[in-house]
Amino acid sequence: MMQSITILGATGSIGLSALDVIARHPQRYRIHALTAQSSVEALADLAARFKPAIAVIADPALESQLREALRSRGATSVARAGRAALVEVAQSAEVDTVLAAIVGAAGLVPTIAAAEAGKRLLLANKEAVVCAGALLVAAVQRGGGELLPVDSEHNAIHQCLAGVREAERRGARLVLTASGGPFRTRDDLETVTPDEACAHPNWVMGRKISVDSATLMNKGLEVIEASWLFGMPAERIEVVIHPQSVIHSMVEFADGSVLAQMGSPDMRTPLAYALAWPERIVSGARRLDFTQLGALTFEAPDRRRFPCLDYAYQALLRGNAAPTVLNAANEVAVQAFLDGRLRFTEIAPTIERVLAACDPAAPRSVEDVLEIDREARERALDCTALRA
Ligand code: NAD
Ligand code: MG
Repeated sequence: MMQSITILGATGSIGLSALDVIARHPQRYRIHALTAQSSVEALADLAARFKPAIAVIADPALESQLREALRSRGATSVARAGRAALVEVAQSAEVDTVLAAIVGAAGLVPTIAAAEAGKRLLLANKEAVVCAGALLVAAVQRGGGELLPVDSEHNAIHQCLAGVREAERRGARLVLTASGGPFRTRDDLETVTPDEACAHPNWVMGRKISVDSATLMNKGLEVIEASWLFGMPAERIEVVIHPQSVIHSMVEFADGSVLAQMGSPDMRTPLAYALAWPERIVSGARRLDFTQLGALTFEAPDRRRFPCLDYAYQALLRGNAAPTVLNAANEVAVQAFLDGRLRFTEIAPTIERVLAACDPAAPRSVEDVLEIDREARERALDCTALRA
């Protein structure tokens, strides 16, 4: 049966990888809507190629520019703009599946809308589950759709847990693998530049998640994500550095058995899994050639040089709004680093200060989350004298 898809964040690294998989299966998938923040030309190019019914630009000032860019390419998609349009295309009755691939808490509202509407939710936007885990899980339950993780670690765990009964899951432990990022063996972190931080050894990704990988905050966010998606307490989630990025994560069962999911480091594999589940489709990813792999190695994360991992564990254990605060502070600090206003080594202390200064009650609604997020961002700007 033909699946109709909305891609939130179509012009990004995940959005483009998904479209690459989708283009290989025109008989299975059709695009209802593609969205972007401000890349009008890139969005119009995609609209001309994939012919969605609707193209949405989130920045409302760019609507007429988008309309003109579509017209000049002969693309027939309707141009829409603004945040309300993101929500509309996420919950439209014409859509079966929504890929949540916006970066940051900015993706929360349309992602929750898709969950509430019972769509199959392909979740890449980890910040949405970090800042509003309980609300997102409840929205998926109310909506009656299913959530399929795209993040490679969570996708790996989903694969390892497929067919495992609830009772056996309860005795299991999760082992998230991490590449260690570009600075695993580098000492002078003071002088790191944004381009160096974004040059990931194994994955090509957007700039925000690349910096998160370099600080290990990405793994911290993923610990919180795993806790919500698989109902696991912090003490049963472990992180191990595995520089080759071949094992994408593992599940250890009560009897000592460990299941691992392996593959080339290519996001098209988890995207194809989530798109086709429970079937399997060709993704375009290179086959693993075991004769070329050499050794697979593992080591403990260096928690002293990369304290962000522990801040995430602490936020998860603290509960309430701590993960929302952690995420907001991190987004502000990472953006400041990318803009050249903050040193790499100041990212972690900024987050620590904001976590110490803010302790709001647990959010009970999406509006609460947005308010806590806003306050934590303000605090992060104050803490580091980052205001322009
Ligand atoms: P990216 O920066 O390459 O793309 C982000 C997309 O979101 C773009 O289409 C952009 O136009 C849109 N966007 C940005 N800000 C927006 C806003 N305020 N409102 C609406 N749209 C906005 O990012 P990415 O690397 O594709 O990552 C997307 C998400 O997927 C992130 O949450 C990231 O953590 C997660 N993820 C990415 C990878 C990867 O390999 N890139 C792997 C796992 C998880
Ligand atoms: Mg990941």
